[in-house]
Amino acid sequence: MYKTHNCGELRSAHIGQTVTLAGWVHRRRDHGGLIFIDLRDRYGVTQVVANPEINATVHDALAEARSEWVLQVQGVVGNRPEGMHNPNLPTGDIELAAQEVVVLNPAKNPPFAINKEDELIDENLRLKYRYLDLRRERMKRNLVLRHQVVKFMRDYLDQAGFVEVETPILFKTTPEGARDYLVPSRVYPGEFYALPQSPQQLKQLLMVAGVERYFQIARCFRDEDLRGDRQPEFTQLDLEMSYIHRDDILAMVEGLYTAMVKAIVPHKRLLSSPWPKFSHTEVMDRYGIDKPDLRFGMELYNVGAIFAQSEFKVFRGALDSGGVVKCIAAPGCAEYSRKEQDELVEFAKTQGVKGLATLGLGAEGLKGSAAKFINESEVAQLRQTTGAKPGDLLLFVADARAAANKALGALRLLFRDRLKLADKNMLAFAWVVDFPMFEWNEEFQKWDAAHHPFTMPRMEHLGRFETDPASILSDAYDMVCNGYELASGSIRIHRRDIQHKVFQLLGLTEEEIERKFGHLLEAFEYGAPPHGGMAPGVDRTVMLFADEPNIREVIPFPKNQAARDVMADAPSKPDARQLKELHLKVD
Ligand code: ASP
Repeated sequence: MYKTHNCGELRSAHIGQTVTLAGWVHRRRDHGGLIFIDLRDRYGVTQVVANPEINATVHDALAEARSEWVLQVQGVVGNRPEGMHNPNLPTGDIELAAQEVVVLNPAKNPPFAINKEDELIDENLRLKYRYLDLRRERMKRNLVLRHQVVKFMRDYLDQAGFVEVETPILFKTTPEGARDYLVPSRVYPGEFYALPQSPQQLKQLLMVAGVERYFQIARCFRDEDLRGDRQPEFTQLDLEMSYIHRDDILAMVEGLYTAMVKAIVPHKRLLSSPWPKFSHTEVMDRYGIDKPDLRFGMELYNVGAIFAQSEFKVFRGALDSGGVVKCIAAPGCAEYSRKEQDELVEFAKTQGVKGLATLGLGAEGLKGSAAKFINESEVAQLRQTTGAKPGDLLLFVADARAAANKALGALRLLFRDRLKLADKNMLAFAWVVDFPMFEWNEEFQKWDAAHHPFTMPRMEHLGRFETDPASILSDAYDMVCNGYELASGSIRIHRRDIQHKVFQLLGLTEEEIERKFGHLLEAFEYGAPPHGGMAPGVDRTVMLFADEPNIREVIPFPKNQAARDVMADAPSKPDARQLKELHLKVD
């Protein structure tokens, strides 16, 4: 046996026992003769002490040991001397008087400290030595939390009658709005597998197969530009159900998440139960974004009606050209300096609007660029509509509706961070429903699926395919939390004719439809049941539970922000022989 106990286990009750521990040197202190080592393993830290007068060999061995050496220590558990107890450490009442030390493996000096939690370390260095980074308490905690989350999901869904099914990684294109990762075939020259952007088609085929309730902790692969909450490969809790309506799925996932929060992060509060449900139009109008952070107010208000008669050129121009005048009220910011206000204007411009007008409800009267154009009656109405109080700063955007929403939505989040308006310990889950089915792609001058092409359009909108695709709503839904999209899902098309119609509208030729999706269309002809599902992001869920700022912190071996694995150095050049076998030439 390498160890009789772990390093987080020993208490006063063990005093007098001879035990063996094994672990890493977390810290070493030389106190003029006495040597103290904090020995660490996965479970905790135990203080080991060596007294040269009692055992010189052991003392010398420990004197030589350095950070992160792997040691095995046998000794007797003793009470710590008076005044030396450490109430912050579970093992803080005892120490181990070393009698025998075996160096299991020395270690090079680590490139960063494992034992300092608050030290800022360059992320690429952390990722290059990820195995050391994962030794740190915070990362270890995240790893375990992730395990708990996934285990909870599995157990809960098992209880609810779901079957976990593995679907292939080597497959065919599964569009989710990103590029595919392709894998060349050695056996079939010039042919490629695609890594699944999600198991979407396969889970639908499982519904045709009669599984009725499916889930999978599924790895998804998407070649897209990276952001804080994106990675080339990531994990979803993918699920699908047959013979259900939209609200059945929402209730299932809401039940799962509500129970999971209670069990795993009980210190977190839910905004409300049941979760609020918004239409897509409503969240865009009120929060300017389709994944609103509901932990704080500062909603967007449409104040066009107040300025119906206004002669203020900026407002007049927008209203006359069919645009809107919308505003938000930043609490307590009325006295912002000219420079601070100019910075906000510049920020708004980066969000695609022409400008930003400001009105400070200052103690000594109105301030800001719109002050001289707004009369008393308008101010009174503004206060009534927005709930703004003396001391607040109103920010106006007069522009096309979509642009105004986007800019004010972004400003709202800027103030969230600046004024710390969002409670860290709140999880504000909500549903967003009634999405448009299609979005116009300006770049390629074609329609795209707003969710994915397998989403069921509203039955009553089927007649609009030829006339007004933009007005077709779909049976898609998003689960949002604290400003993140945590899951998307939809009721699916289960009829060949409708699926075909959607592919056509998306601009696929008959040949493409057959080549890419022939298998799915055919399956729909063999008794496909009505079905739907969704896929919460596991990484984002753990990130929110762990209060981490990005998903890299909760993925054991993530790519860096340039999509590279800096530890193994991937992607990397294959051998010439491999390329040849794969029938590939690289310039
Ligand atoms: N496949 C979808 C996605 O990856 C989720 C779903 O519709 O179930 O976003």
